[in-house]
Amino acid sequence: MSNRSTSSPLIRATKQGLYCEAGDFYIDPWRKVARALVTHGHSDHARYGMGAYLTATPGIGVVRERVGKDAKIEGLAFGQPLKIGGVTVSFHPAGHLLGSGQIRVEHRGEVWVVTGDYKTAPDVSCEAFEPVRCDTLITESTFGLPVYNWPEPEEIFRQINQWWRDNQKEGRTSVLFAYALGKAQRVLCGLDASIGPIGVHGAVERLNPHYRAAGRPLPDTLPANAETKSELRGRGLIVAPGSAQNTPWIRRFAPYSLGFASGWMTVRGNRRRRALDRGFILSDHVDWSGILNTIETSGASRVGVTHGYAQPLIRWLQEERGIEAYEVPSRFVGESESESEGESEGESEGGREHREDVSE
Ligand SMILES: [Zn+2]
Ligand SMILES: [Zn+2]
Repeated sequence: MSNRSTSSPLIRATKQGLYCEAGDFYIDPWRKVARALVTHGHSDHARYGMGAYLTATPGIGVVRERVGKDAKIEGLAFGQPLKIGGVTVSFHPAGHLLGSGQIRVEHRGEVWVVTGDYKTAPDVSCEAFEPVRCDTLITESTFGLPVYNWPEPEEIFRQINQWWRDNQKEGRTSVLFAYALGKAQRVLCGLDASIGPIGVHGAVERLNPHYRAAGRPLPDTLPANAETKSELRGRGLIVAPGSAQNTPWIRRFAPYSLGFASGWMTVRGNRRRRALDRGFILSDHVDWSGILNTIETSGASRVGVTHGYAQPLIRWLQEERGIEAYEVPSRFVGESESESEGESEGESEGGREHREDVSE
């Protein structure tokens, strides 16, 4: 559709992050810039200190939790086009968490889409992923290896609810670790509230009101603390971030069984290493076949690959599909990733060599 590849690309990697020169804005920048378009509220995408933020309207609340209450954040409804400089931008549901959007950028008839994190599996806690046609697709590849093929989420929720019942019979509290933003709310929506009381750690509780305000079907929850411990202990299921393991907070609910909901639970060693009783394979990222389907459906003739296992996917696209594929650096080497709460959660979560487990 265009001969841009012979000139400067519409969106390119810079040391601040992905940059669109024709519109003079950045997408999910990790260094301070004047204008940031933000795909979603995870801290490796929505970072503190930008001059102005634009995100999909349903995501404003959770992005604000990350970047500060005084930040200048504007929202754009899903599907609504906005002219910025010489380009037209729009957000399209990414299915990753509440308000997460793929960003479509159009300039002189050429269309690029940056997926941000996304998933194609059903999830009532957020808007459903919407395929978008484009010339160039920049896709994440957090789980871009054939070994990652997600089971049906309904089956995983069935397993979680059964584990909860079994623990109850033994008089144990069920403590399920799940990333505080996105995964925790998705898990809550999948619980059978008739089994017993549901408790949430403070980090999860802080984000739930945004989901409830958006009409997402979260069950009633109790803050899991000293006042509710007798109600929850031995009967309840508590959703908490992985960082809560080995803390005084968790000890008051003993005896308990520890489970973890994550795509990394595909790899058995991750569960053992963290001394978990159960691992539930539930990811808010797309799996291998979902990535390939998304690329195919997009019609893109060129694919940028970012986050995670970029090289295997690039090789596969080149060799099996004859698609022009290239790596888009997600972050420059040496960047510190420890400043926010979300990141420190990630350090101890199931992922191994990988950083993206923070948003898993
Ligand atoms: Zn991410
Ligand atoms: Zn994310």
